[in-house]
Amino acid sequence: MNYTICLLPGDGIGPEIMAQAVRVLNVVGQKFGHTFTYTEALAGGCAIDAVGDPLPEATLAACKASDAVLLGAVGGPKWDNLPRHQRAETGLLKLRKELNCFANFRPATLFPQLASASYLRPDIVSKGLDVLVVRELTGCVYFGQPKGIVEENGERMGFNTMRYTESEVRRIAKVGFEAARKRGKRLCSVDKANVLDVSQLWRDVVMEVHKDYPDVELTHMYVDNAAMQLVRDPSQFDVIVTGNLFGDILSDAAAAITGSIGMLPSASVGESGPGIYEPIHGSAPDIAGQDKANPLATILSVAMMLRFALNLEAEAAAIEGAVSAVLDQGLRTGDIYQSAPSDTSGLTLVGCTAMGDAVVAALQ
Ligand code: NAD
Repeated sequence: MNYTICLLPGDGIGPEIMAQAVRVLNVVGQKFGHTFTYTEALAGGCAIDAVGDPLPEATLAACKASDAVLLGAVGGPKWDNLPRHQRAETGLLKLRKELNCFANFRPATLFPQLASASYLRPDIVSKGLDVLVVRELTGCVYFGQPKGIVEENGERMGFNTMRYTESEVRRIAKVGFEAARKRGKRLCSVDKANVLDVSQLWRDVVMEVHKDYPDVELTHMYVDNAAMQLVRDPSQFDVIVTGNLFGDILSDAAAAITGSIGMLPSASVGESGPGIYEPIHGSAPDIAGQDKANPLATILSVAMMLRFALNLEAEAAAIEGAVSAVLDQGLRTGDIYQSAPSDTSGLTLVGCTAMGDAVVAALQ
């Protein structure tokens, strides 16, 4: 089969990690008999520099014409103080909206080889850390109108609107139930229904959708408790489904407890059309251009892309197996070397390219 992948390397470490991900994808192509055709486009700070727009029309067109979008990372201090419409993040929000990617999959999984990287106590980690956060991505307080900063009673007042329509909740709830069905069959819906009307609607609709998924166990949790439970005992969760704001915070908390930001992939998908596959970390300007970045989150994002966008399960599993194999060999980029136990015998500190080499070799 022939697939078209739109590559958006972006800024900072983006181009370095993307280069390794493409090498891995090419090897998968050779091994399994697929052809990947790449279109590379500008997004983020590099696009602002080139054409004054973090998401140029040409980039959007290339994304829409592809089977899937693979993104490195965007942004950096150089562009942080531009007006909001020119910020790198604004381009990313627009891309998600334009591709109608309303569902964000954020797996927080800890490779057993990296158990010591977790910030949690060993007795908690030993119970397992494998949570999938499904975050609604195109609604909620980030997009709700009205919003703004106005003068009121002689002072400034800022406000945003948290809103969800029934259909928006229904479609993300379905995604959550479907995901739970393919995993441990447990879905926890996180809201703030004790205080917020929008959350009450959320809960009501999730319960309605549950009628179509009797094989999945549904629980509800308030967001404040969910934040606490994620840290206290993440093994109680299988899949969490939640709105955009709560998901933003909880998915980062779930990622942080693994202690390995350079290891975590993500996917943002819609009902049809190309999805966006990207590591959860940013452009890491502090280590950009030094061959220090961990490419594994991006390589694991390629695995998610093969599985979700192209339905290539064996190919995805081969990549995940290769990543596990290089960890077994003791290879570590700086970010996961530092969090190793004080005894680092058996571990080898490698750079971004060498880590890519090792994954390619393990695949071959
Ligand atoms: P960051 O994720 O870029 O970096 C946080 C820390 O983690 C840094 O010390 C960095 O060196 C390290 N790190 C991150 N990824 C790594 C990797 N693959 N290998 C090794 N170490 C890694 O977060 P930040 O510093 O808050 O943000 C930097 C820039 O990235 C900002 O401009 C921010 O807006 C942007 N950002 C972009 C995205 C995205 O493109 N989706 C996401 C988050 C932040």
